[in-house]
Amino acid sequence: MIERLLIANRGEIAVRVARTAKRLGIHVIAVYSDADSQAMHVAVADEAIRIGPEAAAQSYLDIEAVIGAARTSGADAIHPGYGFLSENASFAEACTAAGIAFIGPSANAIRTMGDKAASKVAMAAAGVPLVPGYHDEAQDPTVLADAAGEIGYPVLIKASAGGGGRGMRIVKEASDLGAALESAKREAQGAFGDDRVLIERYLTTPRHIEVQVFGDTHGNAIHLFERDCSLQRRYQKVIEEAPAPGMSEARRSEIGAAAIAAARAIDYVGAGTVEFIVDATEDGANGPFYFMEMNTRLQVEHPVTEYITGLDLVAWQLAVADGLPLPIRQEEVALNGHAIEARLYAEDPARDFLPSPGHVVAFEAPEFGGEVRIDAGVRTGDDIAAVYDPMIAKVIAHGADRDAAIANLDRALTELVCAGPTTNQAFLRRAVTHPDFIAARLDTGFIGRHAAELVGEPGEGLFAALLSAVTQLLDTRARAAREDAAARGEADTPWADTGNWRVNLHPRETLRIRCGEEERAVEIRQGAASTSVSFEDGTTMCLPDDLPHGWRVIPGGRVLHVISGGIQYRLEQIMAADVSESRSGGVGSLNAPMPGKVVRVSVSQGERVSCGQTLVVLEAMKMEHTITAPADGVVSEVFHADGDQVTEGAELLRLDAEENEE
Ligand code: ADP
Ligand code: ADP
Ligand code: MG
Repeated sequence: MIERLLIANRGEIAVRVARTAKRLGIHVIAVYSDADSQAMHVAVADEAIRIGPEAAAQSYLDIEAVIGAARTSGADAIHPGYGFLSENASFAEACTAAGIAFIGPSANAIRTMGDKAASKVAMAAAGVPLVPGYHDEAQDPTVLADAAGEIGYPVLIKASAGGGGRGMRIVKEASDLGAALESAKREAQGAFGDDRVLIERYLTTPRHIEVQVFGDTHGNAIHLFERDCSLQRRYQKVIEEAPAPGMSEARRSEIGAAAIAAARAIDYVGAGTVEFIVDATEDGANGPFYFMEMNTRLQVEHPVTEYITGLDLVAWQLAVADGLPLPIRQEEVALNGHAIEARLYAEDPARDFLPSPGHVVAFEAPEFGGEVRIDAGVRTGDDIAAVYDPMIAKVIAHGADRDAAIANLDRALTELVCAGPTTNQAFLRRAVTHPDFIAARLDTGFIGRHAAELVGEPGEGLFAALLSAVTQLLDTRARAAREDAAARGEADTPWADTGNWRVNLHPRETLRIRCGEEERAVEIRQGAASTSVSFEDGTTMCLPDDLPHGWRVIPGGRVLHVISGGIQYRLEQIMAADVSESRSGGVGSLNAPMPGKVVRVSVSQGERVSCGQTLVVLEAMKMEHTITAPADGVVSEVFHADGDQVTEGAELLRLDAEENEE
């Protein structure tokens, strides 16, 4: 029996695994890097051990450090969560060698499935349908070109060792293949230390449908139905649901049987997911399906399966690791209702989903009842570190049917408050209430196709936010005046305490408020019964009558976070003294859009550059971001070198306008 469990992960999944383990009376040991000593996953554990500095390579990915922590704490099992070491066969072996149970399949199963090419060979042998494609060892450009020609364009290049959508390239015609291969191989080498690629037919209207499987050490293997994960950006999932809308019972059994065949082919033990790509062009969820890859671990989106089956998959993982047989047979797995998960990320949909780490000023999930579940990895006051994945939480809703699940999810996404970092919360709300989503017209192109509607109008709700902020500012000022008067012993004067926020307001004044890079002037006029507030475009509103509902104003330092249904404005009153204060950098200075690491400075001082040229490459949250020249010019100063860690807004280099040589 597992009595002491070490969780080799962080964030929401570490918290979620700990919850089940503690319910089962298991002693929970957390591990943490220096970035996470105060993190939520540490707080919920019974015991926590530092495993290294912030960089994942020296902490959460350091096999020796993790095994060392397990030894020190007397752990008898390790749960790897997802990501990090969860699909690392050497880690599974190291656990076994140390006499510690690895919660997952055998190292062999991980190895076979960890390589997209090798897994296809194994699956073809097991009779599981594959996307037409090339997955042999030979990597000669002419061999690959011939293979692509035979498959027929468009084709998709994938890194054999790949994951997380990296190293993938769509190639529309033969003439583009050479360049695409080169860049895919370069990215694969950089990300995985392995530049082998495979080529598949690129489906133009696919749905991503995957099947949750479970195996035990007694030779049993069952499936727990499918999940549809077609809503993706950058080949990564954003919204997932179960069951797949529109899938027939017959197809459900077929795809389930194919997934079980895949699991059996590698003697699979524990929780796993077999991912299929479905050609949805003609028959939606019931179109032809093909094996894509198998993830040999618990999946991010496992809660939707837990909702529709009523099972706790982490409890099952622990039971299987204890050598117990699966508690139920295939025919006993019942499907109840519908569940949808939305991943709340610290990212900016309006800036191509750029990660936006930062301080969480408030994280508040109201009590929603049994039909909504929030799996979070952060609390109010935590920081979202730039070095790890930008996922903040998962919002999961269940309902008797899909419409009910959507309604519950929309309500949860509306009421959840996450202030501080820019998030995709409003984007998620728009996605799940989009007519095409409601009608289940889904395929992996959904987000790209509806991007403009999903991102929303710039400035949506801005007046309401400004009005809420102004109310708060005036209120704060009035309270300060009352307290000041009370301190002077004049609390009874009518000037100090009328319980009315209009006290101490000048008859007419202009407040200057900074909103991002812009400044807004708001004119306030005090009348007899109410106060009018006018904006620069002439719109005038009255307080308190026009005060909008549903906006929360959360102070965080000098900034007011004004938030409603996931739409967030960070507003700051500009005091007279700040107005002359110059903002960082001068004209032509280029600043880091987010905290991160400088991967490469591509230019040097004095260099002449042209508009669009790459100047600096930054890496943050496992993604590379290219900073390009906004105009032709000359690099007058470079402030950082390769490898530097920079904060958000840090000046990277300065670009001067090119002198006209007439
Ligand atoms: P899925 O998202 O369906 O589980 P992926 O292949 O996208 O499958 O893999 C999960 C991804 O989760 C990893 O590749 C990684 O990007 C990300 N990840 C890894 N560790 C964490 C973590 N602790 N918190 C959030 N995300 C993580
Ligand atoms: P990863 O390891 O990055 O998860 P996958 O092979 O699972 O890689 O593919 C990720 C995503 O890429 C899929 O969910 C799907 O949206 C898209 N994709 C994969 N293969 C194809 C294909 N042959 N045609 C069209 N889209 C595909
Ligand atoms: Mg995948």
